[in-house]
Amino acid sequence: MDKMLMKAMVFSGKGKPLALNELPVPEPGEDQVQIKVIACGICRTDLHVLDGELTQPKLPLIPGHEIIGIVTKTGNNVSDIETGQLVGVPWLGYTCGTCKYCRRDKENLCENAKFTGYTIDGGYAEYTVAYAKYCFKLSKQYNNAASAPLLCAGLIGFRSYRMIDPAATNIGMYGFGAAAHILIQIAKAQNKKVFAFTRDGDLQSQQFARGLGAYWVGGSSDIPDEKLDASIIFAPAGELIPKALQDLDKGGTVICGGIHMSEIPAFSYDLLWEERSVRSVANLTHEDGLNFFDLLKTTTVHTQTEFFPLNKANEAIQKLRKGQIKGAAVLVM
Ligand SMILES: [Zn+2]
Ligand SMILES: [Zn+2]
Repeated sequence: MDKMLMKAMVFSGKGKPLALNELPVPEPGEDQVQIKVIACGICRTDLHVLDGELTQPKLPLIPGHEIIGIVTKTGNNVSDIETGQLVGVPWLGYTCGTCKYCRRDKENLCENAKFTGYTIDGGYAEYTVAYAKYCFKLSKQYNNAASAPLLCAGLIGFRSYRMIDPAATNIGMYGFGAAAHILIQIAKAQNKKVFAFTRDGDLQSQQFARGLGAYWVGGSSDIPDEKLDASIIFAPAGELIPKALQDLDKGGTVICGGIHMSEIPAFSYDLLWEERSVRSVANLTHEDGLNFFDLLKTTTVHTQTEFFPLNKANEAIQKLRKGQIKGAAVLVM
């Protein structure tokens, strides 16, 4: 019998556009499930992979790590997921469980981790396979393409947000795209005052942030009239770190939510003095995901999405690159 074929958008090397290929539908390994992809979000990290800023991709690669889909087959060792189950697949695709980070409950830092859509194939395809242990079983309410951005923009935003002192009230978000538009809804539900910084002059994103309840909106060079208790930087621009420190109150924290940033310019120690801190957030743990979807049972979050068919992935990526996507871009199979 001929193997079943699927359409996939395939990355073959830095600087090359994705190519629409027909490939055999992948078979699950013994710890994996096969998933019929409903939708896959496009994350800024995908751009860092395509641009060679993340230097170790599997090649050729099917990108994409914000996957919503239905399990169609299970491997021999998989006992807690059945076919027909709706699942979400995030960036963290596998950890070893035995390295020192895994043993310290820091699986997000695992020495032997595999990442969906980077070191293992992801969701820019009609089917994918994923390690069952790292899939999130989702309830029916997420059975739609608009849920895809929750799997990274939502999750990484949430992990970044959890690094903030719960007593913080004034919270800055630099870069108001896929992650910030989800996180602001969670922060608002917890009575936080959100200060949304967009690219200078990006009035459309500023209006979008205001519509979602931002207390203050402005360009990233604008200085709000209140000091911030904490900030999360989602834009991959290193020059935002000194600026965010400048806007920060004593004892506050600047959290860098992205996996890649341009070089950070030198800055005066004054900006860090008085117990201000800067930290990054790397990947996520499976537990972050469980906590996140738990929180969503009581906090309603609406994602703003722009849908593209799979074969328009290159066009969608160009729009994201130019800052022309309001909210999140999602490929729908
Ligand atoms: Zn490990
Ligand atoms: Zn991502």
